[in-house]
Amino acid sequence: MSRIPFNKPYLTGKETHYIYQAVQSAKISGDGIYTKKCHAFFETKYGFKKALLTTSCTDALEMAAILSNIQPGDEVIAPSYTFVSTVNAFILRGAKIVFADSRADNPNIDETKIEELITPKTKVILVVHYAGIACDMDYIMAIAKKHKLLLIEDAAQAIDSFYKGKPLGSLGAMGAFSFHETKNVISGEGGMLVINDPQYIGRAEIIREKGTNRSAFFRGEIDKYGWVDMGSSFLPSDIIAAFLFSQLENLDDIQKKRKHIWNRYNDSLKVLAEKKHVQLPFIPEYATNNAHMYYMVCNSVEERTGLITHLKSKDMHAVFHYISLHDSQFYKNKHDGRSLPNCDRYSECLVRLPLYYELTDEQVDSVTAEIKSYYKI
Ligand SMILES: *Cc1c(COP(=O)(O)O)cnc(C)c1O
Repeated sequence: MSRIPFNKPYLTGKETHYIYQAVQSAKISGDGIYTKKCHAFFETKYGFKKALLTTSCTDALEMAAILSNIQPGDEVIAPSYTFVSTVNAFILRGAKIVFADSRADNPNIDETKIEELITPKTKVILVVHYAGIACDMDYIMAIAKKHKLLLIEDAAQAIDSFYKGKPLGSLGAMGAFSFHETKNVISGEGGMLVINDPQYIGRAEIIREKGTNRSAFFRGEIDKYGWVDMGSSFLPSDIIAAFLFSQLENLDDIQKKRKHIWNRYNDSLKVLAEKKHVQLPFIPEYATNNAHMYYMVCNSVEERTGLITHLKSKDMHAVFHYISLHDSQFYKNKHDGRSLPNCDRYSECLVRLPLYYELTDEQVDSVTAEIKSYYKI
C-alpha cells in the first residue's frame, strides 16, 4: 500500500461485534434486526418517507428504473460526467440516455441545459450530486414539474448533505445512496433506495423481494404471499446491515473528521486557485459540503498527469475520475454528437486527493506541500 493511499476504509469499532450479534440471532437473510435499525436510523434522522437497504447503489438505481416504468425508447436526461451505474440501470430497461453538460464551476449537471433536451419521449430527469454537493434543485424541480417528468437523485456520494436545509435524496421522487467502501459510510458493498413519493412505496417493496408481496406478509397485512409483479433480489443480508449500523452510529464523528481534512486541504490550496493554477471545489450558497471528496481541476491533461506522477513518486496516491459517458466505448456511437465541453474538461483535468478518516494533519500537509512544490509555489 502507498504511504498515503487514495482511500482507506475506516472501521468504527463495533462492526464485527454487530455482525456476531446478527449471526447469533440466526436471522441473517434480508430485513433482519440490523436492516430494520438502519431503516429507522435514516427515516428518523433525515425524515425520509421510506428507506430500503439494497445490495448496492447500482441496485437501488435499477429499482428506481423499474419503478419509473421506463419503456424501450423512452428518454432519460442525465449528466455525462458520472459513474456508469447512474444510467446503466435505465439502459437495462431500454432507455435512451440524453446526456447534458456539467456546470463550469462544478461538475454537477448544468441545470440551464436541461429544458432544451426535453422531447415528447422524455420520462425522467436524473441528477447526480457530485462530491455530495447539491445540484440546483429548485430550478430542476420546476422543470420536472412543468413537463411532468419524474425526478430521480443519484445521491451515491451525498449522505448527510443538504439543499436549502433539506437532505439530498429527499427532493426527487426517489434517491439512491451507496455504502461502497469508497463512500463516507460503508458496508463494503451496499446501498439504499429512498422513496419520497408515497405512490411508489408498495411497489418498491415488491420489486425488492423478487416480485412478491412478502414484506406485507411479514407485517401481517396479508395472510399469504405470492408473485405479484416483476422484481429481483435487491435486499442485502443482515450481516451487511450489521456492519453498516456501526458506521451509522458514528456518522457524526466520521463527518466531522472528513470535513476537518477537507477544510485543511482547501485552506492550504487556496493559493493555487488565486494564482490560476487550478480550479477548486465550488459550493453554491444553497448547498452544504459533506466532505465526500476533495478535488482540483488542473489547467490541462498534461498538468494533471504530471501532478499525479509527481505525487506517485512521493508515494502519495491521487487519482482522476470519470471518463464522460457520452465519450465511452459503449455509448459513443449512441450519443447524438453534441459536444459537452465542461464534461470533457473534468474528464481530462479533474484530480482527487487522498481523503479518509485516518488521514492525519501531517499527511494532509505533506500532500499539499508536494502539490505546491509541483507548481513551484
Ligand atoms: C459510487 C457511485 C455509484 C455506485 O454505487 P455502488 O454502491 O458501488 O453500486 C453510483 N453513482 C455514483 C455517482 C457513485 O459515486
